Amino acid sequence: MADNSLATSGADLELVGIQKRYPGFTAVDNLDLKIPAGSFFALLGPSGCGKTTTLRMVAGLEDPSQGKILIGGKDMTSLKPHKRQVNTVFQSYALFPHMTILENVAFGLRRRKVGDPVAKAHEALKLVELDHVADRKPAQLSGGQQQRVALARAIVNRPALLLLDEPLGALDLKLRRQMQQELKQIQQEVGLTFLHVTHDQEEAMTMADTVAVMNKGRIEQMGAPEELYELPRTVFVANFLGKSNLFAVDVVDGNETAIHTDLFGTRITLPRARTERDSGSITIGVRPEKLRLHREAPTDLAGRNTLGAGRITDVSFIGVSTEYTVEVPGAGTVEVFSQNVEAGPVAGLGDEVWLSWHIEHTFGLADDSL
Ligand code: ATP
Repeated sequence: MADNSLATSGADLELVGIQKRYPGFTAVDNLDLKIPAGSFFALLGPSGCGKTTTLRMVAGLEDPSQGKILIGGKDMTSLKPHKRQVNTVFQSYALFPHMTILENVAFGLRRRKVGDPVAKAHEALKLVELDHVADRKPAQLSGGQQQRVALARAIVNRPALLLLDEPLGALDLKLRRQMQQELKQIQQEVGLTFLHVTHDQEEAMTMADTVAVMNKGRIEQMGAPEELYELPRTVFVANFLGKSNLFAVDVVDGNETAIHTDLFGTRITLPRARTERDSGSITIGVRPEKLRLHREAPTDLAGRNTLGAGRITDVSFIGVSTEYTVEVPGAGTVEVFSQNVEAGPVAGLGDEVWLSWHIEHTFGLADDSL
C-alpha cells in the first residue's frame, strides 16, 4: 500500500452464548465464536440459517435475546451501532446517487468532523484502485466498481471490525471471482478484521482464513477451509462444502492406526485419526474426486479401499473433468469425478466398473443424520 494511514491493527471479536429468539422461533442458538484480530472470517450457510441475524447483532442493529458481544475485549452488547467501531458493507451498495464518488467516500468523515476528509477519501479510493473516477457519479460506474466504492467508504472510517453481508451477491460470476481476490488482498493490506457472511461455499473457501459453517442457527463446524473440506464432521458440512459419497457402515474391529468397517459385506478401512467414533454403526465418506475407476477388479490393494463391481448409469462431460454415476449393489449410488488427463475417459455408460481410493481419503462423521 502506498500510504499506511489506513492500516489498522483490527480488533478481535468474541461472541459468548449469543442467542436470538423470535416468537416461536430461535434464529441464532447459543453461538460461541472467537475471531482473532486481523483475520478474515466467513460465516457460511444456506438461506435462513441465521448468519445475517448474527451479523446484525454484532453491528448493533439487532439486540441479542441472550449472550455477550465483545469487540477488542470490551463488552459492546448494549452499545449503539455507531459506538462499536464497526462498519458494514451490504449487497446493495447504497451510494448517494447525487454525490460524486469522492463525496460518497468522504461523507462519513465530514459528519464526524475528522481532519482532511478529502485526502483520506482519495487514499481509500487508491486502495480500491478507483481514484481516477473520484469525480464521477455512482451511476457512471459498473456494479463491481460501485461495490469497491462501498468498501472504500467503509474502510475510510477505520473501523476495528468490518462486516460484509453478501457484498458480492449482486455481481456476475466472473466479476465476483475477481472481487474475491481483491477483497482478500485489501484485507491483508489494511490488516482489518473481516467478518464475511455468505451462502457461497467457494467464496468462503477462497477468501477466509477460518470458515464457520452454520445450519439452523448453530455452528456445525469451524476451521481452515482445507480442514473443513478434507475432514467434515457432519453430514451437513460434508454435503454443503462440495460433494461427498457417504456410507452407513458397522465397525467390525480395529487397531491403533485404523478401524475396519463392513458395508454390506465389503470391508472398508478408516484411519483412526480421521474419525472420532470407533464403534457401532457410523457414517463414513469419501470425496468423488478421490475415487478411481477400474475396468477390472483391482488386484493391488495395498493402502486402498475398493468397492464393486458396479455399473455406470450416467456420464457427464464437464470439460476439465468427467462425472460418473455408478450404481454399486449394497453401497448405492456413488459419484466419481475424474480429471480429463491425456489418457482420456476410461469407461462409458453401462460399463461394469470397480472403484478404489486411498484409505487416507476416507473420513468418519460424528453425527448420525444420514
Ligand atoms: P439469508 O441468506 O436468506 O439472508 P440468513 O442465514 O442470513 O439467510 P437470517 O436473515 O439471519 O438468515 O434469518 C434467520 C431466520 O430468522 C430465518 O428463518 C428468518 O425467517 C428468521 N427471522 C429473521 N428476522 C425475523 C423476525 N423479525 N421475526 C421472525 N423471524 C425472523
